[in-house]
Amino acid sequence: MLIPSDKLREECGVVAIYGHPEASKLAYLSLYALQHRGQESAGIAASNGEQLQLHKAMGLVSDIFTADVLALIPGSLAIGHTRYSTTGDSALLNAQPIMVECNKGKIALAHNGNLTNAAEVRSHLDQAGSIFQTTSDTEVVVHLIARSREQTLGDAMADSLRRIEGAFSLVMLTPDRIFAARDPRGFRPLVMGRISGQAAHRADTIVFASETCAFDLIGATYEREVKPGELVIVGPEGVHSRFYSAQQPQSSCIFEHVYFSRPDSIVFGKAVQQTRDAMGRQLALESPVDADIVVPVPDSGVTAALGFSYQSGIPIQFGLIRNHYVGRTFIEPEQRVRDFGVKLKLNPVRNVLEGKRVVLIDDSIVRGTTSRKIVRMVRESGAKEVHMRVSCPPTISPCYYGVDTPSKNQLIAANKSVDEIREYIGADSLAYLSLEGLRKAAGDGEEHSYCTACYTGKYPTNIVGVEDIAPAMAAGD
Ligand code: AMP
Repeated sequence: MLIPSDKLREECGVVAIYGHPEASKLAYLSLYALQHRGQESAGIAASNGEQLQLHKAMGLVSDIFTADVLALIPGSLAIGHTRYSTTGDSALLNAQPIMVECNKGKIALAHNGNLTNAAEVRSHLDQAGSIFQTTSDTEVVVHLIARSREQTLGDAMADSLRRIEGAFSLVMLTPDRIFAARDPRGFRPLVMGRISGQAAHRADTIVFASETCAFDLIGATYEREVKPGELVIVGPEGVHSRFYSAQQPQSSCIFEHVYFSRPDSIVFGKAVQQTRDAMGRQLALESPVDADIVVPVPDSGVTAALGFSYQSGIPIQFGLIRNHYVGRTFIEPEQRVRDFGVKLKLNPVRNVLEGKRVVLIDDSIVRGTTSRKIVRMVRESGAKEVHMRVSCPPTISPCYYGVDTPSKNQLIAANKSVDEIREYIGADSLAYLSLEGLRKAAGDGEEHSYCTACYTGKYPTNIVGVEDIAPAMAAGD
């Protein structure tokens, strides 16, 4: 069975709370802080020590979880999930957490990442009689846990995690425990934190989240990452950690630092704000340009632009302003307005741009359509020259580990040279940060090593059963 490659385009955030009387409220607030990781559906499952309750729906976290809804999911343990998927099967059925009653009791599971052997495992399970209700990878894990011959849930989970490949940061809820695990290569982030017990009789609350910005909102202190290959179990007996898998070369997603994570988070042990600033500085060193102002493409280009401005000595000016209140529905004028979609989000500031030689800084060019419109808007606002600088290398290959990138044929850098891209977007000059420069800025080799497959086409795992994967691209050829 082949998985269509666009099924793998799923971005998510996960959270878990253990030991707090308002666990589902804390899960809600944590998800609220992780909304950037997925805006399509969200869900929370909570336990009162005996029963699990689940609520999930399509939409934004703050729209789904009203006070009335949160009152229906009481208890001191909770897990939560927020999801974005570009596929047709993004319906509620595939929203998470997934909750099931199996021979190991009631469990709820939430997952960030994509499994690269899901099709293979699923087809084995199908043949062995498993009946799937969704097309989500997460259900594969649930079936593996249910079918495991191990006696305890911890052993069953470890056994199941050894059978899957690819990217997964998982949280699982049972009536009295939270399980948190990361794949052996550490593709996606997962951090652990703590809220000190305020009353003498109350123990600390243990929390997990995709990013530390979730901890800031609920007053939790960041303790550490869940390590690649680690399974942490929190229950009445305390916090226990085990490694379910042998060490594998680490390949954390470098794009978390380039774009995906919030700049106020610590991801893979490094402050994102700092790595983005370093990317901007490095970009200025590698590809300087004679210009009057540095203009960030907000919000994703802001921190790199600060670094570029600092390093180059060219002043930064906000020549593009973002409307943060763009909702899901809007009424378009019947008469076509040029670049309407981009203008809805970004408006150029004429008196900043007029007569200037502008360096535009953005984090990435994917299809090239956004940059083309932005360059045109900046020129139409009177800029004399428009130079584009991008704080990562050309994106030439899709991600199969949990970032939404289109197929290769839609990736502009997979099909055009840098000069052809420059021409397409209409810039006077275009330069990307080098791969070495990006690695240096993200601290590669210090404590972490990164997956850079989207820039190199070299995938650190075998990719089995994916429709448009060329065999030569798999496993780092
Ligand atoms: P485009 O080149 O028109 O496809 O758009 C590129 C812009 O989309 C970049 O400036 C990024 O800020 C943003 N972007 C890049 N990757 C993603 C992603 N996985 N999800 C959402 N937006 C993204």
